[in-house]
Amino acid sequence: MTFLHRADNNGEPNIQAALLQNVPEAHLKLERSYFIPDGRAVAGELDVRTVNGQVVLSDAEGKEILRQKEILLSPAASTEAFFTVLDVKIGIHFHWQRFQEQSFRGALLLAGQSDTTFHLINIIPLEEYLASVISSEMAASAPLEFLKAQAVTARSWLMAMLAKKKSVPIRHQKTEDEIIVWQDVNDHQGFDVCADDHCQRYQGITRIISGNVTRAIDATRGIFLTSAGDICDARYYKCCGGQTDVFATAWEDASFPYLASITDGEEQRVPIHTEKDAVAWLRAKPDAYCNTTDPEILRKILPSFDLETLNFYRWRVEYPPEELEEIIRSKSGIDFGRLKNIEALKRGPSGRIYRLKIEGSLRTAVVGKELEIRRWLAPTHLLSSAFVISTARDADKTALRFIFDGGGWGHGVGLCQIGAAVMAVKGHSAEEILAHYFTGAVLRKLY
Ligand SMILES: [Zn+2]
Ligand SMILES: [Zn+2]
Repeated sequence: MTFLHRADNNGEPNIQAALLQNVPEAHLKLERSYFIPDGRAVAGELDVRTVNGQVVLSDAEGKEILRQKEILLSPAASTEAFFTVLDVKIGIHFHWQRFQEQSFRGALLLAGQSDTTFHLINIIPLEEYLASVISSEMAASAPLEFLKAQAVTARSWLMAMLAKKKSVPIRHQKTEDEIIVWQDVNDHQGFDVCADDHCQRYQGITRIISGNVTRAIDATRGIFLTSAGDICDARYYKCCGGQTDVFATAWEDASFPYLASITDGEEQRVPIHTEKDAVAWLRAKPDAYCNTTDPEILRKILPSFDLETLNFYRWRVEYPPEELEEIIRSKSGIDFGRLKNIEALKRGPSGRIYRLKIEGSLRTAVVGKELEIRRWLAPTHLLSSAFVISTARDADKTALRFIFDGGGWGHGVGLCQIGAAVMAVKGHSAEEILAHYFTGAVLRKLY
């Protein structure tokens, strides 16, 4: 298996997380001592900058310690040492931006990029990285069995992503009339993940890791979802809307047995095939694990800022034509003129659209896949691409309002976080939750 080549600590791989990318300067504080490549130990406050493509490490008095293209700082005593990123100057246009102080365990790699910039990369064991990202994304009070299922899913996705990154480029298919875009694996070079929402929010040890997250990580240490001997590309998102979708609705045209479309409830329904099915499904509010508005359950799952979005199972967004025309123009860069019609051409089994036709007075084009559709139709993103469109028109057929009745939140492929948390509250184990969302996948402990 691919990840074994990356194995480090008894088989546990390391993750390279970029805390800062392409910065000219950074200020650090090392708690306890760290070794630099020539064997010297350093500690305390340090300045980092780039001179002619070389990373220059200096002490607080400005005295140069080392100058190299790349500098690795390894903690002398790995359990006690940590470092704090104090503040950062983003210098390109002489803006100053003060970052929140954040502390991290593990090693630190200062990697020169251009003549004037470097990346600040944290090298950290996978399990510790996972504990931090799960704490950042989940409420501390989330149920344990849900957190265990989430830990196994995120761990599997991460390793599958790192293996895939080496082989699959980012894909686009753009012609005059068809704009089909998706971004699967991240496009980072020289490190595995960044520290913000682009990959997964990673705040090191600044954020307190809750007891349940620690228990969930420890109880599932080294356990992965596997299928036919490979680690599963195990995806997750907030809410499926009652039925999960398949890989090809969101990403490349591939299919995986463990990412089959399932009904998120006790009984399986027939997935969506026709527009009539989609209308019936998305205008109704069928029972499902993730069909919950129980604030007690939601508070246990979602960090407080996500509680602002309560209507995620079924939702409605409406625009007057001028407003939607302006949103589409600014998001797509295409002037469609007066909007005449918006039509779903292809849907996945959850009702998520992956080919949408937009007809205007100046242009007609087809857009996909699900994320690009969501991006084009809202100032930020629509919650999902599972929607049916109705158009209110006046007597001479001019569009007055475009109304989107939708369901779910996120791409809908793999584990539904809200459904999984409700399953845990109902007494299901992590194994049962994973078996529900990842058809036929086998759990294996790999370190
Ligand atoms: Zn990223
Ligand atoms: Zn669901």
